[in-house]
Amino acid sequence: MASGLDDLYRDIILDHYRTPRNRGRLEKPDVATQGSNPLCGDEIEVSLMIRDGRIEDVRFDGKGCSISQASASMMTESIKGKSLDEAKALIALFKGMMHGDETPDVDELGDLESLQGVRKYPVRIKCALLSWSTLLEGIELHEKSTRAAQGSTRTT
Ligand code: ZN
Repeated sequence: MASGLDDLYRDIILDHYRTPRNRGRLEKPDVATQGSNPLCGDEIEVSLMIRDGRIEDVRFDGKGCSISQASASMMTESIKGKSLDEAKALIALFKGMMHGDETPDVDELGDLESLQGVRKYPVRIKCALLSWSTLLEGIELHEKSTRAAQGSTRTT
């Protein structure tokens, strides 16, 4: 049973690796961040277009192993159209799944579930998480700059 599931997961990962979704760079991103995983040689850039607190468009570019690139491809699919808060919740959910410290909501994760198998290879967990950390950095950067633009109008 387990090996059949592993095959299915591997197929999903390879599909995203070979046919990456939302690959490239936005012409005029609101925010773009880069991340790297020197242990494996993975590099990821995530560019975001954010409108009214929602991720209107997203692209990723990069190079590296199949896990890092497939994870980035799945990430762009799952966060597109989501609010920044929803995206941050998904980042937390995915990180939790990769660290195995919580039971993931499978419906919510979709194809991302296929990366669960990576947990068996601790050195590859960083590969799977790279694009997500890079995304989180971008969201936080954007939130910081919008807060700064609003200046003293906010008390929080
Ligand atoms: Zn890697």
